[in-house]
Amino acid sequence: MMLGGGGLPAILGQAAPPRWQAKTVRLFLRHTWTTTMGSYEYRDTVHVRFEHDGVVGYGEGAPIVRYKEDAPSTKHAVESLFSWLESVNPWQFAKVMDEVTRRLPGHWAAKAAIDIALMDWVTQRLGIPLYRYFGLDPAATPLTSFSIGIDRPDKIKEKVQEAEPYPILKIKVGVPGDEDIIEAVRSVTNKPIRVDANEGWPDKELALRKIRWLEKAGVELVEQPMPAPMIEETRWLRQRVHVPLIADEAALRPEDLPRLREAYDGVNVKLDKCGGILAAWRMIQLARALGMKVMLGCMVSSSVSITAAAHLAPLVDYADLDGNLLVANDPFVGVRVEHGRLILPDRPGLGVVPVREHNPWA
Ligand code: MG
Repeated sequence: MMLGGGGLPAILGQAAPPRWQAKTVRLFLRHTWTTTMGSYEYRDTVHVRFEHDGVVGYGEGAPIVRYKEDAPSTKHAVESLFSWLESVNPWQFAKVMDEVTRRLPGHWAAKAAIDIALMDWVTQRLGIPLYRYFGLDPAATPLTSFSIGIDRPDKIKEKVQEAEPYPILKIKVGVPGDEDIIEAVRSVTNKPIRVDANEGWPDKELALRKIRWLEKAGVELVEQPMPAPMIEETRWLRQRVHVPLIADEAALRPEDLPRLREAYDGVNVKLDKCGGILAAWRMIQLARALGMKVMLGCMVSSSVSITAAAHLAPLVDYADLDGNLLVANDPFVGVRVEHGRLILPDRPGLGVVPVREHNPWA
């Protein structure tokens, strides 16, 4: 007897050969999304589909502009591996991902898309939700924050009011006038707020002034206050402030962590930066071994990528998994958020299901 849903077609001799496909999906944003890096009405992510033995695994990668990734090159990178991927044994997924890393220098979103589809397929075949593969308690997910992009103070107030169901807010700053943004937020809510400066304060004295001011405004943590290369200056800053400093742009992959441990209290782990679920798990374990706090973050993406990350959320201190909530045409449903709590699907695999009217694979 074979495991999972793949048994019957195989027994009936209907099993099709393994097949990988990729597609770019345009995700339209509910609000124009502005950070220190730019302003967007939509984001394109690359979706992949892996079908084998009657089971379909879904994956997604969100190319990160900051690292010179885009959807066409990500899709091309993924597709360049398809004929090889169709020849390998997916049960040897860890070996397969090591080989993907070797064959595909850079292209972290492409790696993430392949890894997510593989792990979805494997855990569906095992008949277990992904969190169970890692031995995790789905009730132990932290509350997720909801992100508010840079905007005029009156628009910020509106967005904060719209974000009423979410108990923690993550506010994008790092621009001139960012005190006005925080004052606008504080004028309408006293919820916990986290701040992401996206490398916006390139001077340590400026960063110190900003953070001391933010501490008085009751900010819980500050993400990436200074540019990623300014590790020494960030170490200096950390010695002078009380709130935890979290590395995002400075910490892409596990190997970045040892040199950051003196400068940052924690790290924001994202599947699209490190190359997928297996790499994110390793990065979380290493951060723990180094005594660092862990945030699980995301890019703007659909419920495929967000749900994949959410299955690891029981391992972390802070969740910032709202990328799908910012999208108006999410092609999948998966993890849900209730009063800020991440509710993991109980179905085998990622547990994501295409939404009929937006299904990219229909
Ligand atoms: Mg960030």
